[in-house]
Amino acid sequence: MNHITVTSPLLPALEEFNRVLQEIWDSKWITNNGSFHKRLEAALCEYLKVPYISLFTNGTLPLLTALQALRITGEVITTPYSFVATTHSIWWNNCKPVFVDIDPATGNIDPDKIEAAITPKTSAIMPVHVYGKPCDTKRIQEIADKYGLKVIYDAAHAFGVEVNGESVLNAGDLSTLSFHATKVFNTIEGGAMVMHDAETKKRIDYLKNFGFAGETEVVGPGINSKMDEVRSAYGLLNLKQVDAAIEARHQVAIKYREALRDVPGITFFDDMPGVRHNYSYFPIFVDAEVYGMTRDELYFKMKENGVLGRRYFYPLISSFSTYRGLPSAAPENLPQAHKMADRVICLPMHHTLSDEDVSRVLDCIIG
Ligand SMILES: *Cc1c(COP(=O)(O)O)cnc(C)c1O
Repeated sequence: MNHITVTSPLLPALEEFNRVLQEIWDSKWITNNGSFHKRLEAALCEYLKVPYISLFTNGTLPLLTALQALRITGEVITTPYSFVATTHSIWWNNCKPVFVDIDPATGNIDPDKIEAAITPKTSAIMPVHVYGKPCDTKRIQEIADKYGLKVIYDAAHAFGVEVNGESVLNAGDLSTLSFHATKVFNTIEGGAMVMHDAETKKRIDYLKNFGFAGETEVVGPGINSKMDEVRSAYGLLNLKQVDAAIEARHQVAIKYREALRDVPGITFFDDMPGVRHNYSYFPIFVDAEVYGMTRDELYFKMKENGVLGRRYFYPLISSFSTYRGLPSAAPENLPQAHKMADRVICLPMHHTLSDEDVSRVLDCIIG
């Protein structure tokens, strides 16, 4: 029995990749802002409808660098319902994460609960567009403006997501992306930061290159997080096929929704009005009492049948040993996040799922 995995990487055609490798070999320029790096930045600005972007070597370093660039200190308000890198980036900056509960309608940080978590030490909010569902960026900005806080979006899931034709990546002070192999758009490992102006891009470009502003000038304590030419070229090839991949995912989502709509005890998210989704994940939520089986029972039944869903995001970040001692990590503070984490299974969702694969997934749930 072959396994159906939760995701499958979007891969460029090998012949095309070989051709660009030849070009890189001929040029003998393999990293440090080479021509493919520049071309990928330009192509991503156009595709994502953002003014400035800076490529990184993964999706975690732009989070760390964003906090550095804005000189964030003290407390950072964030969501426990995410991949652990979100909170780790706060911790690595010697800041204190303050967890705020989520809105069950979206899985994103609940704007209504942010103000109560603000203290004199708060300097930033780090929300996540979880599963690529856009946060209430307007409300969050209003709160940030009222209290003089910075907003850094972990937009690792939100590649290509638009609200009323505008990129969600333009919200806040900075947004970060991950181009990891498991994401909608990948450069194997990779990531990026989106910013609003050329000055900020220049600073970020210094910071991702040890702080070098010239041959002999270092303007700050930078890090090394430059994307190399090979992965930039790979990214350029993948960008040409990402729309087709998103559409293939969309078709899978339609089939899942059709089949699961009337299954008692199983819920899922529908598309949001005015939003261009990227169908990066397809989470379902199991209400054990109604469905007649717990989330884990279903999860392991799927596994036995070779259907490898994932329990993203369980456990919550606030439950990990590093963070569970924080006052804001108390489960009473995060009831909605706990409820979602205890019920979720992300179904297989990628561009190569066949009708037969989709049926096999659904048979585990409905059959
Ligand atoms: C994938 C992911 C990251 C980290 O990205 P890497 O490229 O793996 O370093 C950060 N935040 C979220 C929400 C993610 O899903």
